[in-house]
Amino acid sequence: MSMQIKRPKGTQDMLPSQAAKWRTVEETVRQVAEQFGFKEMRTPVFEETGLYVRSVGDTSDVVTKEMYTVSSKGSDTFTLRPEGTAGIVRALLENGVMNEGFPQKVYYLMPCYRHEKPQAGRLREFHQFGLEMFGAASPYADAEIILLASTVLESLGIENVSLHINSIGCPECRAKYRDALREYFAPHESELCETCQERLKKNPMRLLDCKSPICKEIAKNAPTTVDFLCDDCRAHFDTLKDILTDFGVAFTVDPKIVRGLDYYTRTVFEFISEDIGAQGTVCGGGRYDGLVSELGGQAVPALGFGMGLERIIMTMENSGCEFEAPKTPDLYIAPMGEKAQRKAALLADAVRRNGYAAETDLIGRGIKPQMRYADKVGAKFVVVIGDNELESGEAKLKNMRTGDETPVVLENFMAAFSSAFINEVFENGLGDDIVGAMTDEISGEDKE
Ligand code: ATP
Ligand code: MG
Repeated sequence: MSMQIKRPKGTQDMLPSQAAKWRTVEETVRQVAEQFGFKEMRTPVFEETGLYVRSVGDTSDVVTKEMYTVSSKGSDTFTLRPEGTAGIVRALLENGVMNEGFPQKVYYLMPCYRHEKPQAGRLREFHQFGLEMFGAASPYADAEIILLASTVLESLGIENVSLHINSIGCPECRAKYRDALREYFAPHESELCETCQERLKKNPMRLLDCKSPICKEIAKNAPTTVDFLCDDCRAHFDTLKDILTDFGVAFTVDPKIVRGLDYYTRTVFEFISEDIGAQGTVCGGGRYDGLVSELGGQAVPALGFGMGLERIIMTMENSGCEFEAPKTPDLYIAPMGEKAQRKAALLADAVRRNGYAAETDLIGRGIKPQMRYADKVGAKFVVVIGDNELESGEAKLKNMRTGDETPVVLENFMAAFSSAFINEVFENGLGDDIVGAMTDEISGEDKE
């Protein structure tokens, strides 16, 4: 036997059995984002490498170690997107959307790529739900996106998460803060990990993000950003805390949150789950007022967040949250013989055109395996069509929940199936998928 090729390290396959979980999460985030007035947008999976170096920052982990960069023919190099914000800002500028007035509010669902050491909750290909808001400087905007993230988690039934917020100030407060950090860490320089020794020179704030236990210990008593805020940044942060308190959103001010990407200013926040171990941050975001001008636009206040969908799903699985039930066929048509197969195919087509989900046999199985299949896929109704049914023009429609059989005339199959289906819906409660089909049905009947 030849060797099978395996999937790349740090990637996952989404199998059909997991599709309902992803759909639950994706549909919920779309719905909540749209309730808050965000519009979906998509950008390419790869961008020019310079976009990330300029925006994420050349001292960040993402740029120094995690980028998947490829050179194509010619001299350009491209990088698989490690995060969403840079591409979104690039696209809004390039397409002139930033000239169409503010606020601009966009959301996205996208795969991201980072060359990290794979472990639970840390993948090389992962998926983000993210959003960005442009043109709003007010702390009400910060509060609104935090509230949005919190609404998503609540709608998904996620409970054991805590919100950590901090303010890292504007470039002016930060210059003073950096000096203070250098002074604090300088006496410990030789004890720091190699990367942090480098960070101390280039960008001492990154030291606070280091995952090495020794650096973490040294950083324990480091000065905090909030002690270095200018009056404006402090007022912004204080108002944000007031608004969150009014909303009833619980939070902790956590001076250790500085975020891994260079473009943040003022507010930074993380939602951390207690149910998924060390990689517990399910959502991270903040304000990045300097990024749009850094990428060639005007000075536009901006903010957003990214939510890791694999970590969200892990949290939901570990804490017993409910997922949407997988879709099941409304009708399974079991043909016996070649003539019946033709009739079954035509019938399935008619049923689908009327808005229902129908399946029939395509691999020539006998009646028993077909019934087992109909049961396994959860078909709501089954109709068997063999030579007898073709000859008499009549068949039996079986309700798989109750076992009841209703005689139906094949000529009039659609009308009989619809009314049996509607009865079933009323008796068995209304599933969301069913309401749509039923409403179509009723409005169809009204027309006649
Ligand atoms: P971490 O501190 O966990 O490395 P980060 O600060 O690098 O996170 P962001 O760039 O803010 O993460 O990305 C936003 C969200 O995307 C994270 O909060 C997390 O939920 C998710 N995420 C980031 N990197 C990964 C990864 N390698 N695998 C799975 N999810 C990830
Ligand atoms: Mg990271």
